[in-house]
Amino acid sequence: MPKFEYAPAPESRSIVDLRESYGLFIDGKFTDSADGRAFKTISPATEEVLAEVTEAGPEDVDRAVRAARKAYETWSALAPAQRSKYLFRIARIIQERARELAVLESLDNGKPIRESRDVDIPLVAAHFFYYAGWADKLEHAGFGPCPKPLGVAGQVIPWNFPLLMLAWKIAPALACGNTVVLKPAETTPLTALAFAEICQQADLPPGVVNIITGAGDTGRALVEHPGIDKVAFTGSTEVGKQIARSCARTGRRNTLELGGKAANIVFDDAAIDQAVEGIVNGIFFNQGHVCCAGSRLLVQESVYDEVLGSLKRRLGTLRLGDPLDKNTDVGAINSAAQLAKIRELSDIGEAEGAERWSPPCELPAHGFWFPPTIFTGVSQAHRIAREEIFGPVLSVLTFRTPAEAIEKANNTPYGLSAGVWTEKGSLILRMAAQLRAGVVWANTFNRFDPTSPFGGYKESGYGREGGRHGLEAYLDV
Ligand code: NAD
Repeated sequence: MPKFEYAPAPESRSIVDLRESYGLFIDGKFTDSADGRAFKTISPATEEVLAEVTEAGPEDVDRAVRAARKAYETWSALAPAQRSKYLFRIARIIQERARELAVLESLDNGKPIRESRDVDIPLVAAHFFYYAGWADKLEHAGFGPCPKPLGVAGQVIPWNFPLLMLAWKIAPALACGNTVVLKPAETTPLTALAFAEICQQADLPPGVVNIITGAGDTGRALVEHPGIDKVAFTGSTEVGKQIARSCARTGRRNTLELGGKAANIVFDDAAIDQAVEGIVNGIFFNQGHVCCAGSRLLVQESVYDEVLGSLKRRLGTLRLGDPLDKNTDVGAINSAAQLAKIRELSDIGEAEGAERWSPPCELPAHGFWFPPTIFTGVSQAHRIAREEIFGPVLSVLTFRTPAEAIEKANNTPYGLSAGVWTEKGSLILRMAAQLRAGVVWANTFNRFDPTSPFGGYKESGYGREGGRHGLEAYLDV
């Protein structure tokens, strides 16, 4: 098939008004840090410095927690319908500023504008709308006649869906009457700081939402602060385990959303073209920086050649490059450190004997880039079949029977998601019942909806976010 040449179609970045430096958002105001430390956030696509961001130290964390504690007294006592109004207002402002937020997210994170514009930001608004609806109906949520909030939530989020992870954390917390101190990831702080402005614009009472920026030390100071009643963390399994240990010492409530190594299972009766689209969306969406990515493809042996042929042809049509170009399918890797990790695990895959393939693909000279990559001849013992790569790298394995597919899919320390592709409804139900994964998609992949709970088993963490279930994490039940 001849390759279509596309003229560049970049989204203008003039809609974003970047400040040179950003303070911490504490008690409704942007403030400096006590010790004046700062770090830079860059565009991963060009390595250009976007802004300087304040690094919160222990004193700042303390200040933010105190502000949240003070605000808790009035926020938790507010009539629930009033809390709804604030959340609806925030949701509407997000919609009004959607284009600006999408450009900012793509600049800071490296993800294609097509995704930030059509997936991330609409879902962010949807989350606030959804939980705004719950705020005055909590007594009907199935958690007792008079559910109470927990207090101050300390929330730490990763860099792969910066504003969406913020929405997953803040919307249910506020709806239930809690106040929050949230720390975004150090490589993607800008949309969380824009969200702080949105809180001001919505006249949210000071201290209900506090945003503190910084890296792992700031996160640790927050989750270990004695004034926190609940910890909510999304990130790596390694850090999640540390947090679980520190919460166990204090008996503090916590929910953890961690890594994954999902199986995407294609049976021989599946609609192959549709399945190939789902495989591509499963692992190359957001450069594979997706905790529930379908990073292990399990193909039934009888259709292996057909699926691999179609998949390779489809990969040849993916366009990698400028995240702000509306035609881009694959953007930049979020950081030099993540790129090094993807390279290392891919090299190990080759060294262990798997066969590596990427479509011909020119990588930009600056920034952090990795081509869409497929490994075939992968065995379950290979590290690329066991460890989370968190990049655009797919490991392909085969199976003969449903029982073998289930055994291979469940042969992982993780349990976040899985996908099943087949025409048979009965097979979907059988697989869904036996796959040990928090989410099982049938004939689709990476679909998110605020009404649907999301979370893991085993080393993918515990607790659910989204849906009615997501309220439980923020109620004293
Ligand atoms: P990470 O765990 O290194 O960092 C996540 C966040 O935790 C960042 O804000 C970081 O600054 C902070 N942090 C680091 N050390 C900390 C500590 N000791 N105490 C408190 N906070 C600390 O992970 P990452 O590299 O930023 O994100 C990628 C990982 O996140 C992947 O493994 C991915 O699977 C996982 N993830 C999971 C989900 C989910 O919903 N299950 C969603 C997105 C990402």
